[in-house]
Amino acid sequence: MKIFILLFLLLNSFSNYSFAQTKTPSKAEIKKLAKKAVADLNNADFEESISTSRQVLHYATKIGDNYLIAVSYNTIAANLDQISEYDKAIFYYNKGLSHANKTNNNSIKNFINNNLGNVYCFEKKQYTKGINYYKKSLEYSQKDADTSQIVFTKLNIAWAYFDIGQFEKGYPYLEFLNKYNAKFGAESTNVIQNMLNGMYYGHKGENPKAESYFLKAIALGKSGDQKSDLSYSHQEYSKFLLKNKDYKKAYENLDLYNKITEHLYNDEKINKADIAGVHLELDEYKREVDKIEIEKNLQAQSLKKSRIIVVLFILALNVLLLLLYSLYKNYKFKKKANKELTLANQELLIAKEKAEEASLLKTQFVSTMSHELRTPLYGVIGITNMLLDEHKELANSPHLSSLKFSARYLLSLVNDILHINKIEENRIVLENLAFNVSDEINMIKKSLSFIAQNNNDKIAVKVDPNIPEYLIGDKLRLSQILMNLVGNALKFTKNGKVIITANLVEVKNKSHYIEFKIEDNGIGIATVDQDKIFEKFVQVGRNDNDYQGTGLGLAIVKRLLTLFNSYITLESKVGVGTTFKFTIAFDHDPVKTKEIINNIKVDLSSSQIFKILVVEDNKINQTITKRIIEKNNCSCIMVDDGFQAMEILGKEVFDVVLMDINMPLMNGFETTRKIRLKGIKTPIIALTAFAKDEIIEEVISAGMNDIMVKPFEPLKLFKIINDQINKTRNAG
Ligand code: ADP
Repeated sequence: MKIFILLFLLLNSFSNYSFAQTKTPSKAEIKKLAKKAVADLNNADFEESISTSRQVLHYATKIGDNYLIAVSYNTIAANLDQISEYDKAIFYYNKGLSHANKTNNNSIKNFINNNLGNVYCFEKKQYTKGINYYKKSLEYSQKDADTSQIVFTKLNIAWAYFDIGQFEKGYPYLEFLNKYNAKFGAESTNVIQNMLNGMYYGHKGENPKAESYFLKAIALGKSGDQKSDLSYSHQEYSKFLLKNKDYKKAYENLDLYNKITEHLYNDEKINKADIAGVHLELDEYKREVDKIEIEKNLQAQSLKKSRIIVVLFILALNVLLLLLYSLYKNYKFKKKANKELTLANQELLIAKEKAEEASLLKTQFVSTMSHELRTPLYGVIGITNMLLDEHKELANSPHLSSLKFSARYLLSLVNDILHINKIEENRIVLENLAFNVSDEINMIKKSLSFIAQNNNDKIAVKVDPNIPEYLIGDKLRLSQILMNLVGNALKFTKNGKVIITANLVEVKNKSHYIEFKIEDNGIGIATVDQDKIFEKFVQVGRNDNDYQGTGLGLAIVKRLLTLFNSYITLESKVGVGTTFKFTIAFDHDPVKTKEIINNIKVDLSSSQIFKILVVEDNKINQTITKRIIEKNNCSCIMVDDGFQAMEILGKEVFDVVLMDINMPLMNGFETTRKIRLKGIKTPIIALTAFAKDEIIEEVISAGMNDIMVKPFEPLKLFKIINDQINKTRNAG
């Protein structure tokens, strides 16, 4: 055996230690246990040594002391080395070394490296590797200036080199030993030191010198009872003698070597007797060691895991916080947005109410205004008619016809405004009247001949002969459409021609589709303006001198045509002319036509003279109405207001009352209510410039019997008068 280095230094303070403790001992106590394990090893009690080392390893691992872990592994490995389990020994030395390297303790690093050097050199015969371990060991002992350790290791290195015949490499180490021993005299190494000198000088061929070293080594070995060192000395001396052909002596020494080795072997055999048990223990121990390792790994893993969990938890927490924050932000934003939306909604509601109010005001304004305008216009037209009636010589007066035209134009304008208002409010319902297409167109031609003359235009009318004589439909709205279109054609054409065409394009059951075409060769409309002109109050490219209009005409046309479920198309080229086209389906129904015509025929056959009271504040209207009534052989009494009406009705009996609605002091409705309260049942007909459907409800609730819209056609008025008188008489 080579020089073994264990924790000898610790041994001195070793005392017996009882190990029946369950709780982890203190570090000092563990150290004591470690020393005991070394002592057991030295006493060749391998089983005890390993078992104790196992406990040391267990406690050292528990308290995480790398030095003690390394110490216990070193002892375990040394035990295995001793029982020739070299591979296992190397395994545990390496484990010990890895823990030793984690400490600042140089001696433990030195010990383990030295022991590894021993196994590799002398058991595994891997000298280079072994010598490297020795040299490493040497570095550590030199760091600590631990001379005894230096001596051991240097001796091992020299021996290793000599074993492989590298004497010159090993000699410096031996030289150091020689000097050291000369100075201090080291008992434990002097046998081997002399033997190595013998080997060296034998190699050098300095035989007497070699001889004397070998003999000294043997003598020292004998006296010091260093049996294994002595055996090595005999062996090497025998080799030397053999080499020098001294066979007899060589044999004797070899024999001595064998004897000592045999003796040593027998001792070992005793030890080996325990080995079986040790092996079992070892396996168990190995399992324990593995378990400890696994536990350690598990601990590390669970530590790693818990670290990961903590990191994940922190991450999750951060994400959660972020989420919470964004939710909060979102909530705030939504709240704000909601608030803004509510505000905006409120504003919109207010705006809507305002718009509705404004629209209502507009409607009211428009209808009041048009009413107010229609009354005086009614006067102007009425008086013009009267003048023409009374003064036949003026029939051809251009001034009078101009006045009549202007008045009518103004009236139609007022009507236009009222109309467009009504159409927009969906208050227009088309009426069913019987009419002749040709008559209507010619009437329009006639009424616009004044403009035609002014502009030196010719109007041509082409009516398809296939169109039936009578059609049923709203002829008034149709003439309104034609008036607008023909009027425009004439206005925007000078020295030209306007052609009005009506063609029957399709017949479906009773429905006759008539296509109307108004063609002129006037100034035309630029393409860019062609859509715009159908909007309200739009006029394009005109200078003031040309023409003054309202820009309402085409807007009304477009809206009226939608009432007829139709639409207008336009073709125009600047400087060439314009063509407007639209198609309307009118009914052709002779039976219905007859009914309608009969309905408006007034039975004036009776020679009865009706007594009519007219309640009217407007003097002009009074004159006009009076004239119409008297012209129809009726007597007429005029009063200016409701009070007078009540008074006279209290005294006289009338066949019918014509009551204006819009009067100062007391309006027509109120007057009627008071009359009815007095029990007077005379039929009362409302005379009004309002549209019939606007006031019908109030008329009835006030106790009136019917409505006549101004300006009225005399025929219609007398039809109503007749109807009412007949009704009353039949009832009476
Ligand atoms: P108004 O005639 O009162 O101005 P309209 O709505 O009838 O309003 O017409 C709108 C505009 O369309 C007119 O100002 C005119 O410029 C253009 N227009 C309509 N008809 C014709 C036409 N036959 N020839 C040329 N321009 C026309």
